[in-house]
Amino acid sequence: MKLNIPYHLENYIGGNLIGPLSGNFIDNFNPATGEIVGQIPESNEKDINIAVEAAKKAFPAWSVSPVEQRFRILNRIAELIEENLEELAIAETNDNGKPLWLAKEVDIPRASSNFRFFATGIMHFATESHNMEDKAINYTLRQPIGIVGCISPWNLPLYLFTWKIAPALAAGNCVIAKPSEVTPVTAFLLSKICKEAGLPDGVLNIVHGTGAVTGEAIVKHPDVKAISFTGSTKAGERIATLAAPKFKKLSLELGGKNPNIIFADVANHEGSWKKMLYNTIRSSFANQGEICLCGSRILIEESIYEKFKTDFIDWINKGLKVGDPLEEETKQGAIVSKVHFDKIIRCIDTAKQEGGKILCGGKAVKLEGRCANGYFIEPTVIEGLGPQCKTNQEEIFGPVVTLQTFKTEEEAIELANATQYGLAASIWTNGIGKANRVAAKVESGIIWINCWLLRDLRTPFGGVKNSGVGREGGWEALKFFTESKNVCIEL
Ligand code: NAD
Repeated sequence: MKLNIPYHLENYIGGNLIGPLSGNFIDNFNPATGEIVGQIPESNEKDINIAVEAAKKAFPAWSVSPVEQRFRILNRIAELIEENLEELAIAETNDNGKPLWLAKEVDIPRASSNFRFFATGIMHFATESHNMEDKAINYTLRQPIGIVGCISPWNLPLYLFTWKIAPALAAGNCVIAKPSEVTPVTAFLLSKICKEAGLPDGVLNIVHGTGAVTGEAIVKHPDVKAISFTGSTKAGERIATLAAPKFKKLSLELGGKNPNIIFADVANHEGSWKKMLYNTIRSSFANQGEICLCGSRILIEESIYEKFKTDFIDWINKGLKVGDPLEEETKQGAIVSKVHFDKIIRCIDTAKQEGGKILCGGKAVKLEGRCANGYFIEPTVIEGLGPQCKTNQEEIFGPVVTLQTFKTEEEAIELANATQYGLAASIWTNGIGKANRVAAKVESGIIWINCWLLRDLRTPFGGVKNSGVGREGGWEALKFFTESKNVCIEL
């Protein structure tokens, strides 16, 4: 199949690709060049209403369709994503600014894995029964909720969009989905793939537009019974305010300010040290630091602080090329938008005002040629700031990390827990007891010991505190997208 990208993207409603009813569009930029490359529908309540009507029409048949049929269609979508990897990866890079190799190695393969994982998962999804000896037997039904809303951010566009849609569809729901208005193109291309894969009309509806108008229209619609949202804590709070009084089911995957804790014993082994450094570079700057799981607060045991600092900065200076996302040797591409670029630069200024010392980076990068007007920022490392300052409290979501030191295990835990967030944490040590003690005490939904971003799609994924409510992944996602009903039979 051919995945052409038209200048004006369209909504996918009831199986058709159609423009917004208002006729209004929003500009879409390529952040690496600063150019307007297309326009996306500025959909409103009226577009959401027709999407919900289409979903309502599709639900009776889809919700009782045999799981094997759902498996076949979702698995076909996974195959078509793989077959179109090249085109999807280029679209993702041009929309988001991430290096093309990253989109090819991570984003698009993961989007395909999401569909394959839940296509097969639904074939094995079972429910419990509770036997009351000679009195009665209870069994649990897990039935699709109905029409659900899936709203996703711009940092891992197709990867996170499909992470929600795949389990929602597998569980038998009909979906109204909205990608970020900043990175809409791969979601639009997914519409074409779904049509080709034979997904029945109206089962998935993809509607484009802003959070304030399109997103809120999804959340507010009385027939949308559950919302799965990934994005900022601020937008999550707003969505909870709208959805909670209507008793809608909510899954909120929000921001992070994740600690990366490095104990001194790692320096005793050359191999452990190199592995830690390599992964700390990744967890600091991968995808321009625009991953909710990035470790933006690096906590280092005092006795190895100077060694860490020297080796870390050396690696950045020698090995982290900021450049055109389409070039193979580029390690760090463009920041996703001008608005976000300005925010990160403001955060670096704040860090300086708070007394932070910039050890490397701290400025915009001016490239030549095609990317002369793009939004690029140097990988930035800051030291000398305490745990309570703004820089160490608020999510920056860019290529900016801070260094802090600790003397004891207790102090490391205290620093790690010193923010309102609790999404992910990394712990580097060769002490098995220490690693497990710290893992148990860090307030976070996800802990990596001696690794980072090693993902098994079966595991629960999500945060505590202001990082969210609920868990995605594996059975957790299929449980979220179903309502359980107990049936009791007296014997
Ligand atoms: P955002 O909150 O601005 O937007 C996310 C999505 O929500 C977009 O589609 C947007 O249009 C929509 N939206 C915004 N306001 C809305 C509203 N009032 N009602 C309904 N929809 C609304 O986030 P972003 O800037 O796109 O993404 C970056 C944020 O996402 C960061 O805070 C990052 O930590 C977070 N994030 C979290 C996870 C996670 O799994 N916890 C993963 C990736 C990103």
